[in-house]
Amino acid sequence: MRVGIIGGGVGGLGAAYDLLKSGHEVELYERAPFLGGLASTFDVGGGQLERFYHHLFTSDTTIIELLQELGLDDRLIWEDSKVGWFADGKIYPFSTPFDLLKFSRVSIFDRIRMGLVTLYLQRYKNWKNLENITAAEWMRKWAGKRNWEMIWEPLMMGKFTVYREQIAMPWLWSKFVTRSSSRQHLLGKEKLGYIRGSWGTLVDELQQRITNMNGILKPNTLVTQIVSQENRITGLKIRNADGEEKLRPFDVVISTVPTFLLPNLIDLPKEYADQCTSVEYEGAIAVIWVLKKPLSNIYWLNVADRDIPFLLALEQTNLVPPSEYGGKHIVYTANYVPKDDYRWPLDESDIVADYIPHLKKINPSFEESWIEKTYLHKEAAAQPIMTTNYSQKMPSVKTPINGLWTAAMSQVYPMDRGTNYSIQLGIDVARRAVKE
Ligand SMILES: Cc1cc2nc3c(=O)[nH]c(=O)nc-3n(C[C@H](O)[C@H](O)[C@H](O)COP(=O)(O)OP(=O)(O)OC[C@H]3O[C@@H](n4cnc5c(N)ncnc54)[C@H](O)[C@@H]3O)c2cc1C
Repeated sequence: MRVGIIGGGVGGLGAAYDLLKSGHEVELYERAPFLGGLASTFDVGGGQLERFYHHLFTSDTTIIELLQELGLDDRLIWEDSKVGWFADGKIYPFSTPFDLLKFSRVSIFDRIRMGLVTLYLQRYKNWKNLENITAAEWMRKWAGKRNWEMIWEPLMMGKFTVYREQIAMPWLWSKFVTRSSSRQHLLGKEKLGYIRGSWGTLVDELQQRITNMNGILKPNTLVTQIVSQENRITGLKIRNADGEEKLRPFDVVISTVPTFLLPNLIDLPKEYADQCTSVEYEGAIAVIWVLKKPLSNIYWLNVADRDIPFLLALEQTNLVPPSEYGGKHIVYTANYVPKDDYRWPLDESDIVADYIPHLKKINPSFEESWIEKTYLHKEAAAQPIMTTNYSQKMPSVKTPINGLWTAAMSQVYPMDRGTNYSIQLGIDVARRAVKE
C-alpha cells in the first residue's frame, strides 16, 4: 500500500520504519527543517542535546526494544535519578521513599499517609474506575489536604499550571505506575535512562534505515490538505520550503500531528471534529544554560518557591557526563505554560535576564560569569490536558474517513505522553491502518 505520514516526530518515524519493513511504500512529510519533532536535538558544545529535556523509564519497553533492534542498545545508559525539591530557600532530596519519610515540610503522620497512598496506587490496576475523579479531588481525599498542598499541588502546578485542578486521576495514576517500575525494589532508587549521543542518535538511525528501504522523508514540507473522495483517502497536498505545491496520491494516511490541527486539513463529521478540537494542549518554554560550573548536584529539581519564575531546573549533566558537551554543564529551566503566559512574546534575552537572579537562589555562589551561552525553545503543543472521562472525549485513532488514521500524542492515554508511547502508538496504528 502507499502510505502518507504527516509529521516527522518519533511517532511518524516509528510508523514509517515499521511499514517499510513489511513492504509498504511510505512518504513522510515534516513541516520543520529537521526530523524528531518534540524530541529533536541541536548542537551544544560539540554534542547533540534535546530542545526539551528527555529521559527514559525502565517501563519504556517499546523504545528500549527498538534501540536493541537498531543496534543502539549500547547507547542506553541508566543512572540513579537525583530528584530534589526546592522550597524555603533550600534543596530537599526527593529520590527515594526514605527521602519522603524525611520530608519535613509535612508532618510525620502525613508522610506515612503519603507513603501508604503511594504503595496503593503503584499496585492499583483498574484505572478506568478513576476516570470520573480529578487528581486533585482524589489526592485531597486519600492523601490529605496538607500532602496535596505541600507535595502534589506544586508538582501539578509545575506540569499543568492553570489546568491543575482539572486533570483526571488516571494521569497521576500512570505516573505512579511508570515511576515505581523504574525502581529496582520497593525502597530502592529510581533509575533513569538516556540515549548517549541524544535522541538524535535514534532519529538519525531511523532516518538511515527508512531511506535504505526506499522510504521518502521530506522535512521542510508542510501538509496543507488531506484529500479524499467519496469518504475515502486519495492523497495529500504538500508545500515545500520554496512554496511549490504538489498533490501526492496515497491509499492510507496516518497523521501524527496534534488532533486539533486535523479539522484544518480535512472536513470531518462534526462529532469527530469536535472531539479533535476538544483536547486542549499547553505549551512549554525552556531556557538552556551552558555553564562553566554545576548549578547543583540534582538532576530534576522541582521548584516549589512561587517567587521563582520557572518550575523546574533540570541539570542534564547530572544524568549525562559533561564530557558529552565539551566539558560544559547544561541546565534547563523550564515551565509548562498556558496560552496567555507572559513569556510567549518575550525574546531570549528578556527571559534570561528575568531568570538570572533566581539561579542565585538555588545556588548562592552562582555568578553570571558562569554563563557561556543560552538557548530558548518554545512549543505551543507540548502537553495534552487529560480531563475527567477523557477516554470518552478522545477521538478514536480510526477516523470516519476511510484510510485516514491518527496517532497523536494525546491518544496514548492513560499513559502520559512520551517518546516510548508515541513510537508504540505510531507502530500500532500503522499496522491496523494497512490491515483494516
Ligand atoms: C518539555 C518536554 C519534555 C519531555 N520529556 C520527555 C521525556 O523525558 N521522555 C520522553 O520519552 N518524552 C518526553 N517528552 C515527550 C516526547 O517528546 C513526545 O511524546 C514525543 O516526542 C512526541 O512525538 P510525536 O511524533 O507523537 O509528536 P511530535 O514530536 O509533536 O511530532 C509531530 C510532528 O508533526 C509536525 N507537523 C505538524 N503539522 C504538520 C503539517 N501540517 N505538515 C507536516 N508536519 C506537521 C510537527 O512539526 C512535529 O514535528 C517531552 C516533551 C516535552 C515538550
